[in-house]
Amino acid sequence: MNSLQSYSRIVFFTGAGMSAESGVPTYRGKGGIWDQYDYQDVACQKAFEKYPEKVLAYHEMRRNLLLSCHPHAGHAVLTAIENQHPEVIIVTQNIDGMHQRAGSRNVIEIHGSIWRMRCPVHGIFEDMGETYRHYTCPHCDAWLRPDITWFDDAMNEQVMKRADDVVSHCNLFVSIGTSAIIWPAAGFPELARDYGAWCVEINPEATKLSSLYHETIRLPASEALQQHPFMASR
Ligand SMILES: [Zn+2]
Repeated sequence: MNSLQSYSRIVFFTGAGMSAESGVPTYRGKGGIWDQYDYQDVACQKAFEKYPEKVLAYHEMRRNLLLSCHPHAGHAVLTAIENQHPEVIIVTQNIDGMHQRAGSRNVIEIHGSIWRMRCPVHGIFEDMGETYRHYTCPHCDAWLRPDITWFDDAMNEQVMKRADDVVSHCNLFVSIGTSAIIWPAAGFPELARDYGAWCVEINPEATKLSSLYHETIRLPASEALQQHPFMASR
């Protein structure tokens, strides 16, 4: 593997493992959020239509938890790499905004962001506070819903197209803390490889997709990003 510097178009693809080191609870797995909550009550359009206040209260509670967490040293490394290489893009499955809080600017959030609200008619509003600025749209009074991809939602096609585009045009693809078992994100490593990118997996454990990568780094995200010679080669 060459040094990081020899790649011009770099995609970092991050998942729950990246945020977990900030103390953000993961969704799946033992002790995860879906162990405590039923997504059908709090994270799907049907529930939102039936009980908007309950669904919004749940997400407000999640936002408060997130505000008590902070980006870790690994997030800072990605921001530093972004500052040194003009063509670095982070494609993330996380909705928690940690990359932006660490100062990253080129972030494609394929599942949306818990820090944005959406009116079906008037579009998207940024809303970054501890409590919501508005529960209903200031223009039409419709309930605002978090701009995230819930269960049963279709993916945002425009966002996915952008993500597909950057993944298929990169020459280095580094996935961090994701098992990428959920489609369509599960297709990214193969897409990058098919288009000729060097593919690196950073994850403490092997994943179902590990064999697709040219190289694997079996460390937690922050350690790999801070200490691995490849990352230090920037
Ligand atoms: Zn509206």
